[in-house]
Amino acid sequence: MTSNKIDLGFTRYLSPDGRLLGPLPDWADDFNLLTRLYRQMVLTRLFDQKAVALQRTGRIGTYAPTLGQEAIGVAIGSLMRPEDVLIPYYRDTAVQLMRGVRMEEILLYWGGDERGSDYAEPAVAQDFPLCVPIATQALHACGVASAFKIRGEHRVAVTTCGDGATSKGDFLEALNVAGAWQLPVVFVINNNQWAISVPRRIQCGAPTLAQKAIGAGFHGEQVDGNDILAVYDRIQVALERARHGKGPVLLECLSYRLGDHTTADDATRYRSAEEVKQAWQEEPIKRLQSFMAAQGVWDEGREQALITECQALVQQSVDNFEAAGTQAPESVMDHVYAKWPAVLADQREDFLERVARRQGGQDHE
Ligand SMILES: [Mg+2]
Repeated sequence: MTSNKIDLGFTRYLSPDGRLLGPLPDWADDFNLLTRLYRQMVLTRLFDQKAVALQRTGRIGTYAPTLGQEAIGVAIGSLMRPEDVLIPYYRDTAVQLMRGVRMEEILLYWGGDERGSDYAEPAVAQDFPLCVPIATQALHACGVASAFKIRGEHRVAVTTCGDGATSKGDFLEALNVAGAWQLPVVFVINNNQWAISVPRRIQCGAPTLAQKAIGAGFHGEQVDGNDILAVYDRIQVALERARHGKGPVLLECLSYRLGDHTTADDATRYRSAEEVKQAWQEEPIKRLQSFMAAQGVWDEGREQALITECQALVQQSVDNFEAAGTQAPESVMDHVYAKWPAVLADQREDFLERVARRQGGQDHE
């Protein structure tokens, strides 16, 4: 049997237990940077745990945990410039936080509140809201990148998706147009091995997802998505390439979804405890922590201080979220259209009447 694998490159600097496997790029000598990346991964994980707890107690709606994929988002968010635009998918807590989206805004979003997509931080004001439909965001990113190219701006559109999204027509159409027009767009696949209950091995016949870029005429490669040094390095190169007119890049980050698909899923029904236990041996936070401890720049005292600091920040965001109150029910319609279509006027009227009856205590349907 012939192999269909194309050698695209695979980058990893740290072994799963945090040992250095070869020479690091010069930037990795900056321990302030490593500490910042580590801190942000820890903050993301603590926030993520809190978001799941808030869903379990009925205070937010369905939430998509980012557990195990913190390195990918933190690396992306730390390297994008304020003028770049993020076109994210629904499992992007890590990159949103690193970009400057506030934790309470993320809670508002998952709490069904439109204010959760109206980011206060100027650096992220042009970032797109989370995209729940699978892979459609990849096409939106190509639209954004086309605008940058037409205007001659040195900006990059960065879009993310899961492994399952790469099977969608929208994703393949996006790759095609990105290659045909040589757009300044970076596609990042969070290959977490599962598309809800469908494992990667039966999702797609190609040995790598990165090689889908080859058919579209541009560069693709794989990286260890649990090694933040590797992800940081390759995202940096990809962004520079796109920013300077050298075309799009597809980066497949190999990771593992340690949590359920969402809080509406129970992953124990379709994958083994052994598999998940093995995946925990490779997770990104412990890996960087082990490396930093071996370098003598991290210890238990710093760890405890960091956790205390991050827990306080998370709790403050929960307080801010709960103090925000609720929006009027009709806010669900406010941002669907620039101008509400006449053909849907009856539906809007009917909805408003029902809301008024309910608020007046006359409707118990
Ligand atoms: Mg997946």
